[in-house]
Amino acid sequence: MTEPATERRDESDDRQADGTPQVLRTDADAASGLSKCPRCGATQIALNIGSGMLRCSFCRDEWSTPNANEAFALDQGVDQLTGVTMGSGSADIVPSAEVVLTFKCGACGAEIVIDTASGTQARCHWCRNKLSMNEQVPNGAVPDMVLPFSLPKERAVEQIAQFVRKRRFFAHPRFREEFNPENVLGAYLPYMVVDVNAHASFTGQGEHQTRRYSVKVSDDRSETRYDADLYDVGRDFDVEIHDLAVVSSRERLDQRSSTSNNVINAIRPFDLENAVTYDSNYLAGFTSERRDTNVADLAPIVDAQSTDVARHAAHSTLGFYDRGVRWDHEQLTVKGQRWVSAYLPVWLYSYHQEKKDGRSMVHYVAVNGRTGSVMGSVPINYPRLLLTSAAVEVAGIVVGTIILALGAIL
Ligand SMILES: [Zn+2]
Ligand SMILES: [Zn+2]
Repeated sequence: MTEPATERRDESDDRQADGTPQVLRTDADAASGLSKCPRCGATQIALNIGSGMLRCSFCRDEWSTPNANEAFALDQGVDQLTGVTMGSGSADIVPSAEVVLTFKCGACGAEIVIDTASGTQARCHWCRNKLSMNEQVPNGAVPDMVLPFSLPKERAVEQIAQFVRKRRFFAHPRFREEFNPENVLGAYLPYMVVDVNAHASFTGQGEHQTRRYSVKVSDDRSETRYDADLYDVGRDFDVEIHDLAVVSSRERLDQRSSTSNNVINAIRPFDLENAVTYDSNYLAGFTSERRDTNVADLAPIVDAQSTDVARHAAHSTLGFYDRGVRWDHEQLTVKGQRWVSAYLPVWLYSYHQEKKDGRSMVHYVAVNGRTGSVMGSVPINYPRLLLTSAAVEVAGIVVGTIILALGAIL
């Protein structure tokens, strides 16, 4: 079977003659600097994982920022999207934009630096108040929305320990000795969340079986044969995709550099409908990674995943063709897309493996900070693995022989 010809046409180019995306303002009410408790004015604010709300560690008052779907109408009008709509926090990164920013402390007047490469908060070393960056600057540090952690660290530790326990037999002895799931860290990783309004058009051929029978080909052997009708098959339909999440960190996207990309993709999906408008206080006590890719960098990935979704949708209508359908032509016409940037919560356990040749490799076990889904890579003890696969192969040959012998008798 040959690869079908795939063609994608982007109508947004026609509709937006000047190529300018429509911008969805998501930081209209955001303010940088002192971010105070609405009740007592303290700046010691952090996420309470148990309630999913921000909590003032001074007066214990709790509140949360608005749901992002509701605030920005993100769950509406996907079928009406035309061209490209982008959250203001998803704008292209300006290469010259400062990563280290200076803010004036509103309490004492000192000049405080926030290094946005690793976070969007800093404590004033003079008056100990906390300063937050919530306004968006074109360096990718402040997203349109955030999905706060809801899985407590203890649960993540249990998930990681269980994941490693199941792979204990194959794990490198050094890894087993040094394994300490308490070393898990909470990190907000940058993603783009995309809604797609598209039209799919597939054509090809499908086979429907009409008869199955046995034919004697010689005195002691017979063959099973099939009759089938061949049809021209076409599917033409609108596709509406909600909340396609793509990692927007260059390093995590790089397939070659590490195993982290597969690990991070495997713990999806996230319940994005529960994301809230951004506030740096949700990140207090966690680490975060800055977005360093733009919409144009990620568009090919989103196109490919959208086509997969369409193909899957078409497949569910092909039951009649019990001997399969081969698409000769696949076309996904993108009418509109909406992109918003988000920080999504991941618990991470990492392990540096020193190899014999001096190279070092980092292994990760990652846990979805909402659902508890776990995936990871564990350094393997090769001699033990080889021995086991050799044993399996021998067993496989024995089983195979028994089946063949039975076939001859029948
Ligand atoms: Zn308070
Ligand atoms: Zn100060």
